[in-house]
Amino acid sequence: MLFLPAGLLAVTNTSNVICRGSLQIEHREELAGKLRKITGWTDLKFDRSGVLRLGTNHVGGSAKARELLSRVVMGGTVVVLEDASKRADIAFCQVVPGKWKASVPETRPAFVVQIDFSDFENVMGDERALEAFNAGWGLLHELDHVVNNSVDATCLGEPGECETHINDMRRECGLPQRAEYFHTYSPLTVDSAFMPPLVQLSFEHALDKKKKRYLLVWDAKLIGGVSEGGRIAVLR
Ligand SMILES: [Zn+2]
Repeated sequence: MLFLPAGLLAVTNTSNVICRGSLQIEHREELAGKLRKITGWTDLKFDRSGVLRLGTNHVGGSAKARELLSRVVMGGTVVVLEDASKRADIAFCQVVPGKWKASVPETRPAFVVQIDFSDFENVMGDERALEAFNAGWGLLHELDHVVNNSVDATCLGEPGECETHINDMRRECGLPQRAEYFHTYSPLTVDSAFMPPLVQLSFEHALDKKKKRYLLVWDAKLIGGVSEGGRIAVLR
């Protein structure tokens, strides 16, 4: 549970999505750029107060992503975006409930999406899969949890309800879809004392009758999220 100050309240009258002051301008720009590409909204941006402003014109992009963002921005829940870069306990992104400080006259529920931008910089792999897995897609995943109350996969080898919604958006963008929710240890480095523990996440794209597979790989120690003694890591 994160406590939220009144400063966040004043600017959320026309959009429910706002950046914390500590979320650097470069990261806001990075996030807005990814969201412009996904939604096709050429004029989507964070304004000078850090409030997310949706676009008015779109060129291509995912209609489902535009619908999800519209529902968050105009809905009844406040979403605060926080920079969680280089935090060892956060792998990519997570969403946690927020609570207004006692002095704040606000009754709307609030959630905080924490984004570890540095984690995304440490991912390597196929260009097409990298396009389908970045801070913009991570934010949409967390927003789907907030708006649709969707759940993540509980078994290996499946994307789960939340990522299935996000995969619909990837399809609309002509990108490969995430084939699994949990990443697994890369067969290249299992039981090797000399290599960092690489994990992999697979994406696939159906073209005609063939499925093309794309892989992302990262060093689990750099990104975090590996459970103590466990063989699989958890991404919320
Ligand atoms: Zn999730």
